[in-house]
Amino acid sequence: MDNALATPDNIILTDAFQRQFSYLRLSITDLCNFKCSYCLPNGYQGKASQNELSLDEIKTLIASFAELGFKKIRLTGGEPSLRKDLLEIIQICKSQPGIEKVCITTNGYRLDHFLPQWIKAGIDQVNLSIDSLSPEQFELITSSSDLPMMMEALNNAIENGFTAIKINTVLLREHLDSQVTPMIDWVKDKPIGLRFIELMQTGDNTEFFNRQHVSAETIKLWLVSRGWNKKDRLVHSGPAIEYDHSSHLGSVGIIAPYSKNFCDSCNRLRVTAQGQLHLCLFSDDGKDLRPFLGEDSSAQLVKIIRESLNLKLPKHYLQQQQTGATRNFSMLGG
Ligand code: SAM
Repeated sequence: MDNALATPDNIILTDAFQRQFSYLRLSITDLCNFKCSYCLPNGYQGKASQNELSLDEIKTLIASFAELGFKKIRLTGGEPSLRKDLLEIIQICKSQPGIEKVCITTNGYRLDHFLPQWIKAGIDQVNLSIDSLSPEQFELITSSSDLPMMMEALNNAIENGFTAIKINTVLLREHLDSQVTPMIDWVKDKPIGLRFIELMQTGDNTEFFNRQHVSAETIKLWLVSRGWNKKDRLVHSGPAIEYDHSSHLGSVGIIAPYSKNFCDSCNRLRVTAQGQLHLCLFSDDGKDLRPFLGEDSSAQLVKIIRESLNLKLPKHYLQQQQTGATRNFSMLGG
């Protein structure tokens, strides 16, 4: 089946499996300054990120995705806050007609400095990666001693009324006891979203994955047995299944990429910091959009994105250990 070009009435791009796409995850740099044990345990290797998309290229890209009906942009990386022109990038996304939601995923580096700036710039949602509430364990996992600073920045933002915050926690067997119960207790009086992400295998982390992987299904069962209720999924939502509870201000989301039918609700496309379109986090390769990011090539870009979507596979093959070209998530944003 052909995919439909956006029109004012019908602004959804559809693939051969009837999935509708409205959410772009744009990596703006490969560079990362944390050493997360499951992602870049030895830190970012090589030179600082080369050939990142320029502001003009990002403008063309965002305009074309908006023309195709995309409504939500997530800025990711690497660590997006390492880009000096991040505020301008947020501005480009915010000022693009058709884009309704601009989000960022961050490791919390200098959050006390950046978060107020992002809020002022109109960011619609901040996803903050916190794998443990214990500063010692946090440092063990990420190499960063910044957790107390991040918590303070987070609490300040909430006190000032900014609650569009989600916490990303990657489930790790070794740290499970200090993750699930303490973190769910923590959001009892915090009106924010907590999301447990099942560890995914990548090209680089096979041995770590084999040691630390825990199925997210166990957390779903845990929640249901304690009276948590599954919420309805919204059309532009990410991959999490969300739960709420009458005694908790915060919600809990589960991202379970190994679960059956996980890819049936995929609504996302990804573009790397160098302008490669990836149809899936675990694609074997990307389509280079850079030749079409000049000021006058937007019509061609729209055509290329539409044609590429026809190649999107029905699912990933992570269960068969097929991790595609993804050596780690900093390459194209998790
Ligand atoms: N640097 C930012 C951060 O740390 O949030 C954005 C990029 S990071 C790749 C995005 C998310 O992917 C983080 O929440 C991180 O914990 C998650 N992630 C990285 N590698 C992962 C893996 N192998 N399995 C599951 N989640 C992973």
